[in-house]
Amino acid sequence: MACAQSSCDCDVGSSEMERLRAESRKYTFSPDFTWDGVRVERYKSENGGWSGISRMILAGYSEKVAFHLRYFEVAPGGYSSLEKHVHSHVVVGVRGKGRVIVGEECWDVGFMDVIYISPGTPHQLVNAGPEPFGFLCLVDAERDRPSPLTSEEIERLRRNPAICRIIQSGLGEPAG
Ligand code: MN
Repeated sequence: MACAQSSCDCDVGSSEMERLRAESRKYTFSPDFTWDGVRVERYKSENGGWSGISRMILAGYSEKVAFHLRYFEVAPGGYSSLEKHVHSHVVVGVRGKGRVIVGEECWDVGFMDVIYISPGTPHQLVNAGPEPFGFLCLVDAERDRPSPLTSEEIERLRRNPAICRIIQSGLGEPAG
């Protein structure tokens, strides 16, 4: 529609890209928790504060959507960043067993459990079993960057008995 006028000087490359982004498609699932046509990527570009996670963008990388649907997989012993941000998350457990710190709470995450992490709430996902822990995570396409917690916030969480055993951070070893 952007090229309706013959004098249009719009970029053909980008309009072709828009057309491709709007095409319906299927990514076929494999039992090893990969999807045909979906790249396995690093969890984050920067190192530190996380361990043993991969990321697959199931929708939002090349689809015309206002949200991103990602699949994260946490290896045994692995964990995501302990972080907070203005955007919210919806997490759905799909593989193995996990545990999630959400504010002052700590919940088990099993198959098809749904976790809503509200804006600004500190959170971390941890593998709680011997198998890979995989979860879907839905976010806004346009969102703020995560911030690490302050050392005071981390110390407060460490004093919480429900959390101190599983919290992972750069500030020393977890309690056990
Ligand atoms: Mn997050």
